[in-house]
Amino acid sequence: MATIAILGCGYGGSAAAITLAKRSDHQIVLIDQNPFHFLQANLHNFLACDIATESVIAPLNSFAKRLGSRVRFVCARAAAIDEESRVLHTTSGEAIAFDALIIASGATTYFPDSIKQLREYARDIKGFRGALRVRQAFESLLFVRGRGHIVVGGAGLSGVEIAAEMASQIRAFGASQIKITLVELKPTILPEMDEYLINEATVRLAALGVKVICGEAIKEAGADSVVLENLGSFACDLFVFTGGILARNIVSRERIAVEKSLQTHEGSPIFAIGDVANLFDANGKRLPATSQTAKQSGVHAAKNAIALLANRPLTPFHGSNKGVMVALGKRNAAGVMFKSFRVRGAIGGLIKSAILWLHKRSITGF
Ligand SMILES: Cc1cc2nc3c(=O)[nH]c(=O)nc-3n(C[C@H](O)[C@H](O)[C@H](O)COP(=O)(O)OP(=O)(O)OC[C@H]3O[C@@H](n4cnc5c(N)ncnc54)[C@H](O)[C@@H]3O)c2cc1C
Repeated sequence: MATIAILGCGYGGSAAAITLAKRSDHQIVLIDQNPFHFLQANLHNFLACDIATESVIAPLNSFAKRLGSRVRFVCARAAAIDEESRVLHTTSGEAIAFDALIIASGATTYFPDSIKQLREYARDIKGFRGALRVRQAFESLLFVRGRGHIVVGGAGLSGVEIAAEMASQIRAFGASQIKITLVELKPTILPEMDEYLINEATVRLAALGVKVICGEAIKEAGADSVVLENLGSFACDLFVFTGGILARNIVSRERIAVEKSLQTHEGSPIFAIGDVANLFDANGKRLPATSQTAKQSGVHAAKNAIALLANRPLTPFHGSNKGVMVALGKRNAAGVMFKSFRVRGAIGGLIKSAILWLHKRSITGF
């Protein structure tokens, strides 16, 4: 019996673990720096104080136990990987031997140096602790101060969902003195996404009173202000930055280039999946960094790791984008699925909630 280690137990790592537990009789070691799985796709609701903390974190010890006695969870931060001796070293000094390893360490927010003082003053929501601080700051604006200005930098999927959810909550509590501005560098919100999603989100954000500024660069962040390239400085009480991601690769800051088999190089016992890896569909088009891509690649890497250890041929990864659902506040969502199926409003919200619930159930069992 061999040992397969999984570094990072987010969306990709958990999907790999479930597949390995079901399809092999190998020992499985899950390694994560946090004792919990962080459900980032539910984050907009959490930040807007609409759901409890238990809805965005789930204990990894219980997850490992549910998968069976061959699965062990180690709460530790990975520091280095020795491919030759097949050992993963953690910062606490533990050395975890493996026969195959799946790297699923995700990504962090990218803070471009071109924006002055961004790191000091912008809030990051990619980690649970940062997200908790944003929730607390929003809670304080909404329920204590009752006024203020929130700036969301970056109008990709996360930025739009956060702005829409916070604006819905502000409206629900009648806190009309709290304003939200969403700033995007590209000419439209949801850059490169389907026109239908862009239009639906634009209309909904306007109805919720969110001021959207596109084609404008953020120049500087301050303790209580944000400066834009052309429009100048304005007061800001909470600045959430979602402008891009950077691989959380313990080897370098680059996304890991992988073979079609998802191995880090031909013949390697190491695979990389999810946000940390550069992944492509069957036509060579880069797949978006989403939980969907992470889960598809997790399942595939697990199957290939099993094949590798059985000396069977590995198969190429052909991930595909099955669609996108954008949450637009208070259980409303717009989506395009399977290329042409379009959905909006409360029905969209139901589908989005069902997707989020199904993932949570795969981790917690209920
Ligand atoms: C606000 C927001 C909303 C989103 N909404 C959606 C959505 O609606 N749909 C969608 O498909 N995607 C969505 N995404 C994107 C999605 O969450 C990511 O693409 C997904 O989490 C990537 O999965 P992953 O497994 O690669 O990484 P992650 O889920 O980030 O998991 C990485 C894991 O690795 C661990 N780790 C990292 N480094 C180390 C280390 N050195 N040692 C030990 N452990 C380590 C981390 O603790 C973490 O548990 C959203 C993201 C955000 C921020």
